[in-house]
Amino acid sequence: MKESFQALWVTEQPDQTFRREITEREISSLPAGEVLIRVHYSSLNYKDALSASGNKGVTRNYPHTPGIDAAGKVADSQSPDFRPGDKVVVTGYGLGMDTSGGFAEYIRVPAEWVVPLPEGLSLRESMIYGTAGFTAALSVYQLQKHDIRPESGPVVVTGATGGVGSIAVAILGKSGYDVVAVTGKPEAESFLRRLGAGEVIGREEVDDQSGKAFLKPRFIGAVDTVGGNILATLLKSMHYGGVATCCGLVQSPKLNTTVFPFILKSVSLIGIDSVQCSRSVRQVIWNKLAGEWKLGQLEELATECTLEELPGKIELILEGKLKGRTLVRLS
Ligand code: NDP
Repeated sequence: MKESFQALWVTEQPDQTFRREITEREISSLPAGEVLIRVHYSSLNYKDALSASGNKGVTRNYPHTPGIDAAGKVADSQSPDFRPGDKVVVTGYGLGMDTSGGFAEYIRVPAEWVVPLPEGLSLRESMIYGTAGFTAALSVYQLQKHDIRPESGPVVVTGATGGVGSIAVAILGKSGYDVVAVTGKPEAESFLRRLGAGEVIGREEVDDQSGKAFLKPRFIGAVDTVGGNILATLLKSMHYGGVATCCGLVQSPKLNTTVFPFILKSVSLIGIDSVQCSRSVRQVIWNKLAGEWKLGQLEELATECTLEELPGKIELILEGKLKGRTLVRLS
């Protein structure tokens, strides 16, 4: 086995800026854990870009290797559950936040973080989904758990060309929902329609500035990935009994709402967390992604890059300019 490996390395500079470079690291420098994994693919999520830019809410200590997703083969295992050569996926928990992450040829993690690659998915496909796809699927799972069915009415998805949004549009479309995609990229309309959107609208249509407590009811379900005034607008635009999930903060972490949608229209707001989600739900979600929700458009969603090309992609995701999922190839 190799003693060193290539990794993205983020360092804090004396002027408090953060530098990203590719470096050679020692395997012995990886954190303790039962399972050492040779990473074949990782993927870029918004949170990785925050971690790679010195956001201390995501990563407290630098130097650091980000990457909240990894898929690869077990290289060494102290756990009876895994053997060398097993294909596995790791997303969430602490990976790439405060432990060394998937933007590297190797990771070492506790056995309970490791999910066997579900049958029906390749390592590459699992990382086209990655945390973004997992979060999208968890959002749809919650809508269904709260009885939002295809026949219930339109479901809106914000940040629709982003990682979470694009996969949410595709899963909902595949499942027969009437999907309204919200985007800041009018040129992406045909992409979103191909994924499964029946209607594509601009962000400004769901960024209400009127101050009204209610707007015309439009949606029975919502997968919100952006937060801020857009989420507040969606809550005012729900039909009676509507359900909105909330996973992100790309527009803003603030939510300025009244209680009226909740107490007068029985609207529900469901929080989505992919990081500490239980192992049993995690397995259910991965099985759905590999089975009934497996997308025919997976490759269309993916743009591949190498470790060397990753710093440029990090800049683009921070500017909201990436479309779909960015796959990082490490093998
Ligand atoms: P991406 O950067 O891939 O997508 C975000 C999308 O949001 C963009 O593509 C863009 O889509 C839209 N957007 C960008 N800027 C703005 C803005 N100022 N106002 C409104 N919309 C904007 O990110 P991800 O899809 O990976 O993640 C989305 C959010 O979900 C992030 O906040 C992330 O941290 C969070 N997240 C949370 C998880 C959890 O467990 N809770 C797990 C994974 C992600 P468009 O141009 O189409 O509008």
